[in-house]
Amino acid sequence: MNDALSLSKYMYETIAGGFTNQLPISSVCSARCIFCSNHMNPFPIYREGFRALDDIKKGVALLNPNAEEIRMGDSLPGRISEGEALLHPEILTVLKLVREKSPKSVIQVNTNGTMLTTEFIDSLEQFKPMRFTISYHSDNPEHWCTVFNLDMEKYKTARNCFFQLMQRAFDVQAVIVPLPNLVGYEDLENTIKNLRCYTNYVMVYPPGYSKMADSELIKTLESDPGELSLFLSRMRKKYKINLNNLSDLLMPLRFFPYDFMLRTYNGKFKNVLWMFSSAAHNRAKKILKQYGPSVPNNHYAVNVRNYTYGGNINSAGLLMVSDFDKALQKALRKYSKENIKIDLVLLPKMAFDRYGDDLTTKNYSELSKKYGMPVWLG
Ligand code: SF4
Repeated sequence: MNDALSLSKYMYETIAGGFTNQLPISSVCSARCIFCSNHMNPFPIYREGFRALDDIKKGVALLNPNAEEIRMGDSLPGRISEGEALLHPEILTVLKLVREKSPKSVIQVNTNGTMLTTEFIDSLEQFKPMRFTISYHSDNPEHWCTVFNLDMEKYKTARNCFFQLMQRAFDVQAVIVPLPNLVGYEDLENTIKNLRCYTNYVMVYPPGYSKMADSELIKTLESDPGELSLFLSRMRKKYKINLNNLSDLLMPLRFFPYDFMLRTYNGKFKNVLWMFSSAAHNRAKKILKQYGPSVPNNHYAVNVRNYTYGGNINSAGLLMVSDFDKALQKALRKYSKENIKIDLVLLPKMAFDRYGDDLTTKNYSELSKKYGMPVWLG
């Protein structure tokens, strides 16, 4: 077999992720954030270093020339460790390749901002339109240094880059990982207030921790979800800023199952079991119940706990086949005692790549083989 026909891990992930106009080029990062998932994964993930230019050219060939956005920070589905694209030694050459391929697309870069010196920003003007999504978890210098494990000089560069980018009309967004136990709500408010000068869009990701985290770290990362939700609601109104917290359990779930429920009825299934992540389960179950009387067949909901990651990880995207297996075994036993014969199982499709593999490369079809019934992704 000719080696030229084998795929790099970066190419594999791009294809497995479904050609989503991402161009990962680095799994190297200058920081060591206290919550970084790279250090808490319960199974090995790949540390691929900087992507070779020849391989990047192959990745560029897969980009859609008319894509609205090309994302250089993502490396989904998530088997390669996250890294800082701007650290790549040939970053300017890479940007040139992307710009030639997709002349009008916005080039989006996730960054901690520490590479964005004024001089470097000047060299990026030629590649506009560009969008920088900057992780900035505290505006307080000491807190910032503690969270990123970096020195004061780096803080100054990151702080200053917001103004420099805005002045040159780059698009700026921010990411906050809220750590009220470490920095306090007053600092969080001050950070949001200062970010508002440069952007009206901030993504908020409450920190996840796996079973690998020790008790000291858990104390630092934990926060009360209800308290955080109320705090963010107050901040939205006060500073007129879009603080997007997709994992806010108090928000209504964007889940509209009616068409899918009808599809299962048309497929002649009588008793359908929907498997939900712990993050979605309670809200999704209520919605299913509301639609229940509108369809002729029966629908049941089961909560799937994440035993692979443990800790507070509860989103569907990080569930593994083994987690579904445990929950399914228990649920089938329960329903069989109630004389209910489940004849179709539905799994959240965001737990799987386009091959149907989870992050450990186990395929969801294993469940269908083991339990002898159809399993669909929905
Ligand atoms: S900036 Fe991102 S990749 Fe780097 S250490 Fe922090 S969380 Fe990890």
